[in-house]
Amino acid sequence: MSKFWSEVVHGLTPYTPGEQVQMPGLIKLNTNENPYGPSPKALAAMHEAAGDGLRKYSDPSNAALKDAVARRFGLTREQVFVGNSSDEVLAHTFHALLKHELPLLAPDISYSFYPTYCSLYGIECVQVPLNERFEIDVKDYDRPCGAIILANPNAPTGIALSLAQIEALLKAHPEQPVVIDEAYVDFGGESAAALLGRYDNLLVVQTLSKSRSLAGLRVGFALGHPDLIAGLERVKNSFNCYPLGQVQQAGAVAALDDQAYTEQTSQAIIATRAWLAAQMQALGFEVLPSQANFIFTRHPQRDGAALAAALRERAILVRHFKAPRIDQFLRISIGTDEECGKLVDALKQILA
Ligand SMILES: *Cc1c(COP(=O)(O)O)cnc(C)c1O
Repeated sequence: MSKFWSEVVHGLTPYTPGEQVQMPGLIKLNTNENPYGPSPKALAAMHEAAGDGLRKYSDPSNAALKDAVARRFGLTREQVFVGNSSDEVLAHTFHALLKHELPLLAPDISYSFYPTYCSLYGIECVQVPLNERFEIDVKDYDRPCGAIILANPNAPTGIALSLAQIEALLKAHPEQPVVIDEAYVDFGGESAAALLGRYDNLLVVQTLSKSRSLAGLRVGFALGHPDLIAGLERVKNSFNCYPLGQVQQAGAVAALDDQAYTEQTSQAIIATRAWLAAQMQALGFEVLPSQANFIFTRHPQRDGAALAAALRERAILVRHFKAPRIDQFLRISIGTDEECGKLVDALKQILA
């Protein structure tokens, strides 16, 4: 604490990211990183871009990257916003689109950055409880509000809403912006991008961190009506005109264009997820149905924090949240088959 802090700084509750520790032989299943490397084409494009051109500022309009996103989704450049990570895209979204007289609605159990951005930007947020099966019920959002944000698939549950459920939400709130955070959509969800032509209140946010295995590159994007995108551009250009460098943009373009690689690695993760869920159930764990690159699981007789600590002693990191309703759960990122095999072996020892 310092007398030099502004009032807003005193009031902040910063987000706590999963640990990034270095340990020999560590199996890191705590931050939903992709166990397969990025597309070799993305790495080659970044090598190529790391040259004399770095003297110059990067393209402030991010035209090449926006066009790559637009190609991928069959949209125009005016329907695309890009940023330095989807966290940054989300921050600009909260700032530009989610502060209104009536409160923002968000699930009570979801990405914990949402309440953090609310505190940063002075947005009143009402948290709508998930149902007893830990699902989002879109009918629970039938109430006056200024805007809505949710993650689909949701985090940390991994449970996905169907496109029909998202469409019902959009129809029920034609006068409010509805933001769908699709960080995990490539692992079995349905993207609301298909609805963009019909709903001018829809903003879809995605990232290259998970399915494209580029968490360290920091690239995210939003898709929406050109008027929503123009609002985001106004905030971005009042904050940092060059949030993405040339190397970053070149890697992101090549990764987006290498859809075959994304699909191949995502399918491998989906197959490992099914195997891991079955193994965990055989050990007595309850596993929520996941469409993401992690599972959310609890054991009826074992304390979640104690299990996470016992795994940690065996150099396996998983995520445990000390939050109401979910403090008995572990969120386990899907690693390689070998990593998940070692996790199951460790759990067998711990439970024995
Ligand atoms: C990982 C994640 C993000 C952030 O992705 P970055 O692009 O790496 O900032 C956003 N939303 C959810 C729900 C996530 O899990």
